[in-house]
Amino acid sequence: MNKLIWIDKEIARLQKEGLITKIRTIESPIGGHIRINGKNLINFCSNNYLGLANNPRIKKAAINSIKKYGVGPGAVRTIAGTMSLHDQLENALAKFKKCEAVIVFQSGFTANLATIPALVGKEDTIFSDELNHASIIDGCRLSGAQVTRYAHNDPKDLEAKLKTCKSDKRLVITDGVFSMNGDIAPLDKLQKIANKYKALIMVDDAHGEGVLGKNGRGIVDHFKLHGKVDVEVGTMSKAFGVVGGYVAGSKSLIAWLKQRGRPFLFSSALTVPDTAASIEAVKILQKSDKLVSKLWKNTKYMKEGMVKLGFDIGKSETPIIPVMLGEAKVAQEFSKLLFEAGIFAMAIGYPTVPQGMARIRVMNSATHTIDDLNKALHAFDEVGHKLKVIS
Ligand code: PMP
Repeated sequence: MNKLIWIDKEIARLQKEGLITKIRTIESPIGGHIRINGKNLINFCSNNYLGLANNPRIKKAAINSIKKYGVGPGAVRTIAGTMSLHDQLENALAKFKKCEAVIVFQSGFTANLATIPALVGKEDTIFSDELNHASIIDGCRLSGAQVTRYAHNDPKDLEAKLKTCKSDKRLVITDGVFSMNGDIAPLDKLQKIANKYKALIMVDDAHGEGVLGKNGRGIVDHFKLHGKVDVEVGTMSKAFGVVGGYVAGSKSLIAWLKQRGRPFLFSSALTVPDTAASIEAVKILQKSDKLVSKLWKNTKYMKEGMVKLGFDIGKSETPIIPVMLGEAKVAQEFSKLLFEAGIFAMAIGYPTVPQGMARIRVMNSATHTIDDLNKALHAFDEVGHKLKVIS
């Protein structure tokens, strides 16, 4: 008896509807160029905004740390897994983010799962942007708090909903940069409203780090809100080019998460090379904004090129460019033809984005050359005409 037959049926249905994500295996380091199935491609898929995933200084830091400390932490942080490297990373991040303290987690996803249930529970209410990331949604569910979704990036709707809230403890949560649209949360306005209604405010800066603010300090720096946002969640997996997550905030917040953040208490610490590599990434950003400037220069070039070709790129304000195509099948075919032309850019469809709003998501990076960008624009032009998306 095949008890899992329903899975095969579901997968066949997804296949038919063009909703299966094809997972590609990369045979090279992650950079502006990558190799898949022996084919060299220009890469517009990764969140490696600054090219740090294969940076020589960061690689060296990771290798040296292994020589000194080995690879694994051997335990959860609270039992015997906190190494001097973890403390160094937390101090470096606190300085970089200009906040009192930082706690490091294994990923951005676990940082959200740890933080939300530690702050609110059954009697409380969370106000969550309707487009917030899956890890925020899951963190909200785990907390058991009542969740009220407010309209995307709409401070007025947030205020209307906060006004009628009866809970004593309220938490407003937003992504900083929305990863599927590339738009920025109006954090200054959200923070004012949260303050007015005595709600905590939390931002997930996963796609803002290394991108927004001075030297890529993120969305809080972008809006000059230092000390005014209660909880900043971050990740080392995107612009920092490594893996890992963290929360930045006041000393009391971090002390609390060290006692009540379940992934911190019950899952082993970040590995030695990841921690050392992250320290080096922070040092690089702390010192220079060269890579951040290059990222924005490339982004401007690509956006202007896409608009000139006649593509709808939504309301992106960041290096994430959604090329809107409508149906998932069109987006998948578009991505396949780009791949054949040497361009790696993923189709994104339901359930990651709403039905009928499928797109190719173009992730810009400081590692691309102008020649790379011209080749990509040329391929988008050819495929766009072939599939009659542009005229
Ligand atoms: N938050 C947001 C907004 C994200 O985009 C992501 C990654 N997709 C995460 C959290 C999770 O980060 P990590 O990959 O470090 O788990």
